[in-house]
Amino acid sequence: MTIPPPHRLRLDGAALVANWLWLKNQGGSAACGAAVKADGYGLGAREVVARLAAAGCRDFFTATWAEAEALMPLPEGARLSVLHGVRAEDMAAARTLDARPVLNSIEQLMRWRDANGGACDVMIDTGINRLGLPPADWAALEGLEIDTLMSHLACADEDSARNAAQHKAFVEVAGRVPHRRLSLANSAGICLGADYAFDLTRPGLALYGGVPRDEALGHIRQVAFPEAQILQRRIAPAGESVGYNGIWTAECDTEIAILNIGYGDGILRGFSNRGTASTEGRTLPFIGRVSMDLIAIDITAAPELGEGDWVTIDYALPEASAASGIAQYELLTSLGRRFERYWVD
Ligand SMILES: *Cc1c(COP(=O)(O)O)cnc(C)c1O
Repeated sequence: MTIPPPHRLRLDGAALVANWLWLKNQGGSAACGAAVKADGYGLGAREVVARLAAAGCRDFFTATWAEAEALMPLPEGARLSVLHGVRAEDMAAARTLDARPVLNSIEQLMRWRDANGGACDVMIDTGINRLGLPPADWAALEGLEIDTLMSHLACADEDSARNAAQHKAFVEVAGRVPHRRLSLANSAGICLGADYAFDLTRPGLALYGGVPRDEALGHIRQVAFPEAQILQRRIAPAGESVGYNGIWTAECDTEIAILNIGYGDGILRGFSNRGTASTEGRTLPFIGRVSMDLIAIDITAAPELGEGDWVTIDYALPEASAASGIAQYELLTSLGRRFERYWVD
């Protein structure tokens, strides 16, 4: 028995592909890949990979081997790299699955070399001080069959001198280590200019509708649209408050609707009294605190709405982030498992 859930995530396939094409174009002659870790930033990695592969994308990135396994078999011509490299526990999967590890440490590269693992990618840490091999250890890469030599920018979403410093450090190490391709830029890095694109770019956020820097404003389209059903309609009498802790009080008798969705679905409490929903271009403000499974909205602007009707939660990422104080990345990856995800186009 399938019980239709009371909230859905509408996913715009044409917008996903348009975003990828814009990002690819910004990178000039570089190939454009796609980061699909965290289940395609919450959208559903299998479907994202299928759609982007059909559009011509060839290089995909997950964080873990469990994520890689879930994508098998890959579409014809697609390649997958696993960003977190190989732990001892990953070796069996790494040797059988059709994917390359991105080696990050001396331990990982010894593990891979001892196993005669074959082609791999390597992450050089040029200044994020998070994951990757320090440039000074370049000599340890001797003898590895490196497909893509990569690094990751720490501050690409800011106008920081560190961007140029990391670029310079990357070029230096690339001159010493044999490789087939070079890759540095994430979504924000792509916006820094074609200089940062090298042979392959690795956008994630902007594919899914995130705007990492102003250069992308007006070019990146929203992809994920949460929709929720009205569970109950009621009147909040003048002077009464709505929801936990009574943080919203009705100034006059107010028509409200209770949505069948909440922070348990990833519409987080930062949207309390701040978020909005909409129907046919009319805005319906969230009122009171967001609950685990319920959100109250003011439907004064759409009095025809009733039980069982659907509204869209306003979730354009830059605006939703500004309203809630929640990062665009977190807005996507928090979207819960209860949503029915459906693609249009
Ligand atoms: C997540 C990730 C990306 C994609 O970053 P966005 O900021 O989402 O574009 C690229 N490269 C690496 C190494 C990553 O971990």
